[in-house]
Amino acid sequence: MNTIYKPYDTWESYHDIEKYGRLTLSNIEFTTTNLCNMRCAHCAVGYALTTKEANSLPIDDIIRQLDEVETLRTMSFTGGEPLLTKKGIRDNLLPLLKYAKGRNIKTQINSNLTLPMDHYELVAPYLDVMHISHNWCNEEEFVETGFAMMDRKPPVQKRAELYRNILDNARELSKGGMFVSAETMLNRNTVPYLEKIHNEVASEMLCKRHEIHPMYSSDYAENLETIGLDEYRDTVNNILDFRNENIWVLFGTLPFYACSSDKRDLALLERINGTPNTTIRNDVDGRSRMNLNIFSGDISVSDFTDDGAALGNIKEESLKNIYDKWLNTNISNSINCHCPSVKCLGSNIIVKNMYYPDKTFKSGSVK
Ligand code: SF4
Repeated sequence: MNTIYKPYDTWESYHDIEKYGRLTLSNIEFTTTNLCNMRCAHCAVGYALTTKEANSLPIDDIIRQLDEVETLRTMSFTGGEPLLTKKGIRDNLLPLLKYAKGRNIKTQINSNLTLPMDHYELVAPYLDVMHISHNWCNEEEFVETGFAMMDRKPPVQKRAELYRNILDNARELSKGGMFVSAETMLNRNTVPYLEKIHNEVASEMLCKRHEIHPMYSSDYAENLETIGLDEYRDTVNNILDFRNENIWVLFGTLPFYACSSDKRDLALLERINGTPNTTIRNDVDGRSRMNLNIFSGDISVSDFTDDGAALGNIKEESLKNIYDKWLNTNISNSINCHCPSVKCLGSNIIVKNMYYPDKTFKSGSVK
């Protein structure tokens, strides 16, 4: 019997449905810094970045909260740039990474990978996935887009050095056995360069996985253009044509669903499902994951709350309570559809508003 090889995706929310029969809090994303050495045009947290770090909550208090979440399977660390300062690594990151290791929880750090290698070596023994954004068409684009929102930019030569660090660091970490996963978002800038970017990720940087996600329109990224569904579909088909079969290609937040009445969408899903080493990930935000800001204690569902306000704070409430409260909100209910026959958990609110503002997704509509 021929079976199609599909890698196991620990971050997939559907594992919780299979294990617990319902959406479950199994993933916490920690904001462990508000500092970054770059100011990318497309940065998801753009205006939240600062130049001076606040004090974090006591790590022991955070760990006490994590102890109560028995279903925790994965932890992710984001910023800013979580690996920017050695003090931040020592004080904020390592205690949580070591805690995760002790509970056999899988970990991921989101880094821009521009820093000296000794920053990465500090976390390597405890880390499962080094996740990087790679949206750079070339060095020139990096030195402009990567610092677009910075008032006083470093000299071009310095910025270019950081670009070369990304390629060198990725290759060295990969050669050393680290699982480096590069994410590229689809927008007007990246689409013409995708084949080049993919080859770079697979052959030069030696990454184990290339993630493809949509770009969300946000205030911060207002100068970057999103692409429409037809172009998105064509682009994904192109990726499947030119992709390197040795690297895992993961489509995250893919805006095509099995309940679509468009045959081209269904053909694309069938093609992805029939392609080895290629997976689709259900969107994790608000399904299995919440974000914890270690400075304020605020919990949010990334960008998904109605007005961007926190859902609660761990100084006042348990993580589990806040998660249950979120699942009962109208906004959560409006996007949480579920079709078991295709293991689909629906859209997220940004993708729905962007691509399907008038569509009602109905659980069980795919038999
Ligand atoms: S779960 Fe929602 S989006 Fe997915 S196929 Fe069913 S109705 Fe469509």
